Amino acid sequence: MTVPSPFFAKERFAMISKRVEKPDHQHFMKEAIKQAVTALEKGEVPVGAVVVWKNRIVARAHNQMEMLRDPTAHAEMIALTQASETLASLEEARPRNRDHRGSLEGATLYVTLEPCPMCAGALVVTKCTNLVFGARDPRAGSCHSLYHITEDDRLNHQVKVTGGVMADDAKFLLSEFFKGLRKEKR
Ligand SMILES: [Zn+2]
Repeated sequence: MTVPSPFFAKERFAMISKRVEKPDHQHFMKEAIKQAVTALEKGEVPVGAVVVWKNRIVARAHNQMEMLRDPTAHAEMIALTQASETLASLEEARPRNRDHRGSLEGATLYVTLEPCPMCAGALVVTKCTNLVFGARDPRAGSCHSLYHITEDDRLNHQVKVTGGVMADDAKFLLSEFFKGLRKEKR
């Protein structure tokens, strides 16, 4: 499947990136979009995610449901697990995270599509501080569209949510994927 630029800039990063001095949502969302492009190239539903802590990327992941044959292998789940592992082992993160290993306090998840109920639940249990997502998902979105799991004050943790960042880019990739599927079916 071919994807037009500007998404094709292929760069390989170390797991933990350098601290970015003046970061903005777009900067990190572009990194999540690169992950979504990787998913698209592999025939996966193109959703990508990164976790940012102290202005550094501590996890990057894309959807791997097909490859792992695991319907729970959403980009967010993989990124949150990776980030928990990284922060649990990062010396700098330990003083604050000592009491709950792997807690994502102070972290932000950037994801190209609004999280589903499972991933919204994972954001709550990992105590992730912020969520920034791209496109809204009217079918399964649980952080704005169908439910407000991440902001429900009956739960023991609330996540600060920002939606609609680079939503058109995220939607474009999804539409390319589903266009490809429709062609295959013909
Ligand atoms: Zn999900």
